[in-house]
Amino acid sequence: MPETIIVIGAGHGGAQLVDSLRAGEFGGNLIMIGDEIHRPYDRPSTSKGLLSGSVELERTFLKREQFYVDNKIDLRLGTSVSEVDRKARTVRLSTGERLTYDKLVMATGARARRLTAPGADLDGVFYLRSLADSQAIAGRLGPGKRLAIIGGGYVGLEVAASATELGCRVTVIETQKRLLARVAGAEIAEFYCQVHRAAGVDVLLDTVLEGFTGEGSVKSVRLTDGTEILADVVVVGIGSIPNAELAAAAGLAVENGIVVDDCGRTSDPAIFAIGDATNHPNDVIGKRLRLESVPAAVGQARAAASAILGRPKPFHELPWFWSDQYDIKLQIAGLSQPDDQVVVRGDPGNNRFAAFYLREGRIVAVNSVNSAKDFVVGKRLITEGRVPGVGRLADPAVPLADA
Ligand SMILES: Cc1cc2nc3c(=O)[nH]c(=O)nc-3n(C[C@H](O)[C@H](O)[C@H](O)COP(=O)(O)OP(=O)(O)OC[C@H]3O[C@@H](n4cnc5c(N)ncnc54)[C@H](O)[C@@H]3O)c2cc1C
Repeated sequence: MPETIIVIGAGHGGAQLVDSLRAGEFGGNLIMIGDEIHRPYDRPSTSKGLLSGSVELERTFLKREQFYVDNKIDLRLGTSVSEVDRKARTVRLSTGERLTYDKLVMATGARARRLTAPGADLDGVFYLRSLADSQAIAGRLGPGKRLAIIGGGYVGLEVAASATELGCRVTVIETQKRLLARVAGAEIAEFYCQVHRAAGVDVLLDTVLEGFTGEGSVKSVRLTDGTEILADVVVVGIGSIPNAELAAAAGLAVENGIVVDDCGRTSDPAIFAIGDATNHPNDVIGKRLRLESVPAAVGQARAAASAILGRPKPFHELPWFWSDQYDIKLQIAGLSQPDDQVVVRGDPGNNRFAAFYLREGRIVAVNSVNSAKDFVVGKRLITEGRVPGVGRLADPAVPLADA
């Protein structure tokens, strides 16, 4: 059993890891180092309830402050790890201090991809990854404010919904011909496009950003066709990049994330990595991937803790994810591809339906809208490798379990 475990990153994965280690009766030193000033909080809320003001800050923290005291977790916030020395088994902190570990866990997450367009450094151009980002953006939103969002992915669309609820005038600018191009099926993208337009959001597809104008502060967004869109605030949501530089500098294998096995083991037996920062294998979908989802970070944290405690329980769960926009809940399980057969069950016009994606007859993914039952049963059918009758699957009168 290791004497000292150091966790780098105090986010979803880090919080679950320390919890699982103590629940698994790890009695040694446990140090968690996070570069944000807040203790671990619910990151998805930063584009949803926290931004719209419907969720109080205190409710977003994953654990009470007392949890860290009671469980003797040495939580060092506002502190980053700048170097890992694998030979000496030490980490160097931004405070200059060096700490020695027996096991090290990298739970460093990902960061927002930045724009290089002219004017991207003007005041009022924001990225959203953290609670601090969310608070800074929220401080600029309000009735009548003009918000331009660059990128029609989940983060952009959730911000669009939250800002619309706050009375802002919102424009979404997306380069692709449809929304959610990387992450959801075309049916879902079309549905959300209509929902946002009905809510008053100006959704511009197939539209390319040239840059921003303004002196000191952003005044407008300029498109390549010459159009200028006035903006008091801009939020850029164009994807994220894994925080894997620390691992790479330490000589660990990195390829679209820190390369780990199904228990989070890296190429160094003393070092584990979990969450958004990792490229991990998944037997359920039969390939390696880097996921940005809370369930994956939490599942990987549990698996890494089990391996550190000498009772390995590998992580192989069907990828799943959710998104809240207005009063509509999207739940996605499995990964669809553009050439999958699509079967829609229910009526998108009623804001309640599910799109099932079939490959060689089997259900490989479900995208459900306000339809939790389809999501839960669909998840099971995917894991079972069910080959449904297409007519039965499309017919809401047939119980999904019998499709
Ligand atoms: C706006 C937004 C909305 C989201 N919505 C959803 C959703 O609806 N559903 C869902 O499943 N997922 C959602 N996600 C993704 C989800 O938040 C992540 O998958 C999850 O947070 C991953 O957990 P993690 O522990 O790997 O990383 P994180 O939670 O990002 O934690 C990593 C922490 O490590 C810190 N760190 C990095 N490097 C260092 C260092 N060198 N030293 C010290 N600390 C360091 C980071 O600052 C961060 O605090 C959303 C993400 C964002 C940004």
